[in-house]
Amino acid sequence: MAFVITEPCVGVKDATCLTVCPVDCIHTNEEADQYYISPDDCIDCAYCVEACPVQAIFDEFTVPAQWRPYINKNREFFN
Ligand code: SF4
Ligand code: SF4
Repeated sequence: MAFVITEPCVGVKDATCLTVCPVDCIHTNEEADQYYISPDDCIDCAYCVEACPVQAIFDEFTVPAQWRPYINKNREFFN
């Protein structure tokens, strides 16, 4: 399992989640409109879920249906 950042992060990108992630697996770049979680590095601690002010983060099995494409979007950012 891994955690996934979804649409509410787009345009917010405030980086609060980075301050609680113990393994530094949340990244972005200047071109990206959101942050992404590396599924190979996330240790499923869930600390970021509560930290996010816009409820953008879900574990991959509870991502709302309309945001399921974000599961691949997070993975592809690191490929
Ligand atoms: S679940 Fe934990 S390890 Fe995974 S991105 Fe969130 S804070 Fe980092
Ligand atoms: S805390 Fe939420 S809105 Fe802020 S960068 Fe992380 S996922 Fe995006």
